[in-house]
Amino acid sequence: MMIQFQTQVEYYENKIPVNIQIFITRGLFSLTTTSELSDIRANLSLKLPVILKKKSIAYSKLKIRISSDLPPRLVKYIDAHMLESPIASAICDSLTGKDSLRSYYNPSHLKLNNDSHEKAPISFIKNSKHNLDFAVTTINLLQVQKISAIYFVDTQDLGLSISLEYKDRYSPKIFIFNLYKNPEIINSLSVFLPHFLNIDQKLIFIGLENLPKTKQETLFQLIKNNIKNCIFFIKPCRCGNFLNNNKQCVCHSLVRSKNLDTLSGELISALDFNINFFESSSKSGLIISDFFYTTIMDNLEDLDGFNTKGLDSISISSYLKTYIEDLYTTFQLTPDLIKSIVRFACILAFLRGRDELLFSDIFDVINLQSNWYKYAKNSKFIQHRPLA
Ligand SMILES: [Zn+2]
Repeated sequence: MMIQFQTQVEYYENKIPVNIQIFITRGLFSLTTTSELSDIRANLSLKLPVILKKKSIAYSKLKIRISSDLPPRLVKYIDAHMLESPIASAICDSLTGKDSLRSYYNPSHLKLNNDSHEKAPISFIKNSKHNLDFAVTTINLLQVQKISAIYFVDTQDLGLSISLEYKDRYSPKIFIFNLYKNPEIINSLSVFLPHFLNIDQKLIFIGLENLPKTKQETLFQLIKNNIKNCIFFIKPCRCGNFLNNNKQCVCHSLVRSKNLDTLSGELISALDFNINFFESSSKSGLIISDFFYTTIMDNLEDLDGFNTKGLDSISISSYLKTYIEDLYTTFQLTPDLIKSIVRFACILAFLRGRDELLFSDIFDVINLQSNWYKYAKNSKFIQHRPLA
């Protein structure tokens, strides 16, 4: 008899799917597992007979062989004991003729251990004191348009709350890596990501500044082909307002840029925009940003259905095209950055109810990001103002 099902384990508070295969044949009782499951074999071989006996199954006549698709090198970073209950349940169910097609996502109904693996991780308990509509809609807009950005928040909690809300609302296929809580996660990402990364999988990294530069470079190598699906949160300085266009950073000038200075150069140059999220001073609990707040807020309801088709109808005059080409030749901006600027400017034109891109749309994007470009891209073009 062969049983096959999917269950899940946790990798730093992210649920990851695991496929289990179990072969049951006749013979003297024995239990074999493949190497990645060897940690749980001892437990299972003690407890399976007890459970089977309770169900009046003649366990002594069963040879059981269990394997999974977990990468063996990943096992030391996850809690393989979470697999015990689903495995025992699956064996019992199929031997007693119960529906063997159901998946064993919920390991709670047949507990082997009394320790509470199923308890919700503390950092994943939702923080509901903020209204995050604006923040998650903005992130989703940029994700859908494949525009890369780094998000600045003034507390670690805000980054996590926004991430969880975004996952809840838009993208169940998301891994959230909290680098404040688990900076060591980086050591196993090279095992984890190749195995679980696919084309629409999104990754959120909270607290990049908490990783040493060399680890950030490692991270960049792992995600560089997937960077448009990555979302980064950092706390830019002690007060959280560094590079914010609406709020004043009150940190001492000697330490102000300390967190940003730890960012890997390759990583920040791959990120085209910087957005500060902070709590509105006029409306308590509402999280707003310095990034076209009014324009995006006015369209908040419609943005979820917004797609690239709307942008295709935006026309760009040949004069403006020449200017855009100039950005490339005169100011040596990378084509990717120019594309992002133009794409965001087109979004603005669209949201502002026009079907033509104007200089002002492009200037607004450039002006609003000038602190970021100056800081991260070491760019001089921000001083440039052509005659329109
Ligand atoms: Zn500050």
